[in-house]
Amino acid sequence: MSECIFCKIAAKKLPAKILYEDDLCVVFEDTTPQAPVHLLVIPRKHIASLNSAEDEDRNLLGHLIRVASRAAKEVKIDGSGYRTVINTNADAGQTVFHIHVHVLGGRLLGWPPG
Ligand code: 5GP
Ligand code: ZN
Repeated sequence: MSECIFCKIAAKKLPAKILYEDDLCVVFEDTTPQAPVHLLVIPRKHIASLNSAEDEDRNLLGHLIRVASRAAKEVKIDGSGYRTVINTNADAGQTVFHIHVHVLGGRLLGWPPG
């Protein structure tokens, strides 16, 4: 078993508040929410970051974005608005090296981000 915490969450070896899952991805609540709604969308496939995504992953990456939009609608932030974020490496503050799409909403989000 991989030591990756998000692989473990996808495999149900670690607990998480899962809102949605399918054969390709899992959506769950972030444990340290930065907004009233803070979800993470992860692929079941371990991809460390956007830097290691390949051409063969593009349908999967598109699926993550589509699932993010459906999750935003499900938790009713589609109308007020939300932000989808993929952090890559140190300057962006990436801390978990299993690619994930943040879905943030439920409050006014400042721009540009810090
Ligand atoms: P990053 O900084 O890599 O873009 O985002 C990682 C996110 O994962 C952070 O928002 C952090 O709060 C969240 N996170 C880290 N460990 C866990 C965990 O064990 N469970 C859940 N649900 N979220 C986690
Ligand atoms: Zn992983």
